[in-house]
Amino acid sequence: MSDNTNETTAAAEYDFYPMWESLGMDVPAHDMLLGAVGQMFGDVFLAQENRPASTDYLNQVVAGIHSGRIKEMLDKKASGEAKKIVGSFCLYVPEEIVIAAGGIPVGLCSGADWATDKVEEHLPRATCPLIKSFAGFKLGSVCPYIESSDLVIGENTCDGKKKAYEFMATQVNMYTVDIPNVHNAQTLELWKGEVRKLAERVEQETGQKITAESLKAAIKLANDKRRALQRLSATRAADPAPISGLDSLLTVQAAFMDDAERLTGAINAMADECEQRAADGVGVAPKGAKRILYTGTPMAVPNWKLFNIIEKAGGVVVGEEACTGSRYYKDLVDESGETVDEMLDAIAERYFGINCAIFTPNDGRIEDIVRMARELNADGIIDCSLQFCTLYEMESFTVEKAAEQAGIPFMHITTDYANEDAGQLTTRIEAFLEML
Ligand code: SF4
Ligand code: SF4
Repeated sequence: MSDNTNETTAAAEYDFYPMWESLGMDVPAHDMLLGAVGQMFGDVFLAQENRPASTDYLNQVVAGIHSGRIKEMLDKKASGEAKKIVGSFCLYVPEEIVIAAGGIPVGLCSGADWATDKVEEHLPRATCPLIKSFAGFKLGSVCPYIESSDLVIGENTCDGKKKAYEFMATQVNMYTVDIPNVHNAQTLELWKGEVRKLAERVEQETGQKITAESLKAAIKLANDKRRALQRLSATRAADPAPISGLDSLLTVQAAFMDDAERLTGAINAMADECEQRAADGVGVAPKGAKRILYTGTPMAVPNWKLFNIIEKAGGVVVGEEACTGSRYYKDLVDESGETVDEMLDAIAERYFGINCAIFTPNDGRIEDIVRMARELNADGIIDCSLQFCTLYEMESFTVEKAAEQAGIPFMHITTDYANEDAGQLTTRIEAFLEML
């Protein structure tokens, strides 16, 4: 494990421009993007009071997100320690498979509007901002993760992504995994077949065979990260909450980009500190602050808008039933498998439990929302869909009914990545917090 602080200090002195140019990026546009994200990070995260000291690691991650981390991955590839960089956009792409085949898995940028005019030459205007964002980051050449990815793995989940990947396949080396949309014994078998096909495709890309030993180690690495996140999440049941929703969200966002072993160490340090804070009654918000469970569409970096509004309004987000939340870490892969086949099955089974709204019915998600709201002592549920996301918009009615039956106040929000609705959202959220 390396010392991240030293790395970042060294990174501050390093000239990253030749690296970005060699990746074919639009460097002046990228400078603008980094400037805007840096400003936003300062306003949203560094302005928080009473943050756990261990969240400093997250500041280091963001400082190096487009610089030091990219160099680290490229250096690993150059030295042969890693074979290829493999990007993806969805929780359904098993990181264990990429790692076991010698690759570095990365989540690709999709949390901000970029090059929208260019995107709308290829995709309809009424497309969800997450999809437009990843197309815009590619068309605008401002994402060093996609530019350094040797292979991008898409997944046939929602209709928007499915069709957008047909376009993305004209831009990058792409492989798309098929995801069923119902949960039953037959579709599980189909999914196991897809997982095997994916493993073969990744092996072909990296030139490295997945062995029982490499797969076992990769399962343990990913599970250790999940165990650390579970520990941190459990501390948020305390009142006052020891860590903000913003920092918790950023921790999961970092998990898609940062070195897994180093990040796991940092999350365990955050969990240690938050367990102590919970025992001492130390919080990031005052005791009695209104506690919110977030559920809905994922929030990719740098989409911090809604959490910032909730927490600036005096609430505190204590849990996230989302792909940038509990769905990422709540279930582990069974570690008892000994052969590659057994372990691929265990991976398929674990990922099949991710309750994306593409599944019908999606009762597991509804049960998780109510269970989490109770376990984390939430006062209310805020359910959010990105604009034009039919799946989460439609499922919000079922979520609302379940919240009502459980006696938990509920609010639904539809938003995008722009700031135009920030004032209106603040007013609605303040009113919601008031009535809790
Ligand atoms: S919400 Fe569904 S499509 Fe989106 S990342 Fe999660 S599993 Fe993938
Ligand atoms: S937010 Fe909805 S429409 Fe957008 S990519 Fe995710 S599931 Fe698809």
